[in-house]
Amino acid sequence: MLQCFIGLGSNQADPEQQLRRACIAIAALPDTRILRCSPFYRSAPLGPADQPDYVNAVVAVETDLPPLTLLDGLQGIELSQGRTRNGERWGPRTLDLDILLYGAQQLDLPRLKVPHYHMHARPFVLYPLADIAPTLRLPDGTELVELLSKCPAEGLERLPGQPADVLKT
Ligand code: ATP
Ligand code: MG
Ligand code: MG
Repeated sequence: MLQCFIGLGSNQADPEQQLRRACIAIAALPDTRILRCSPFYRSAPLGPADQPDYVNAVVAVETDLPPLTLLDGLQGIELSQGRTRNGERWGPRTLDLDILLYGAQQLDLPRLKVPHYHMHARPFVLYPLADIAPTLRLPDGTELVELLSKCPAEGLERLPGQPADVLKT
């Protein structure tokens, strides 16, 4: 089994509920289980500013699914929770599920690049990741703490509550 990290984001149709539903759906993927779920964070939108704030989180999973099968599963969950693509990059969405890390693998496929190409500069990825994997190193050896030191938590607010409770439902 490989350990993977998945970034979750939503800014439409009750974002916190979208993330909770997504965690349950990820846990229901074949040969996959959720190990840890970060707290939820509110973050300022990337790209177009005329959209609501996002709620973001990161989950650690253990999976036997090959990388593209995992991506298919995650995109299926996005669609089942009403994700539409109108062509606008970083536009509002009910659910975004990105594979941040797939074990220690580095993949550069047309449909899948891991580590996720921009994770090193996104506070809404790095801070929740550090909550559940503080000693993590990226496949190239970079330490997560080093990335955090260069990425201020600007526009990021940790939300109250214990999202890990979703793992018990
Ligand atoms: P960003 O990738 O900047 O976070 P986004 O998540 O809004 O933007 P999407 O519209 O969700 O982008 O995805 C566009 C395409 O990115 C997907 O169709 C998918 O094939 C591809 N992709 C490449 N690498 C990854 C990855 N690591 N995780 C998820 N999708 C990926
Ligand atoms: Mg994304
Ligand atoms: Mg995406």
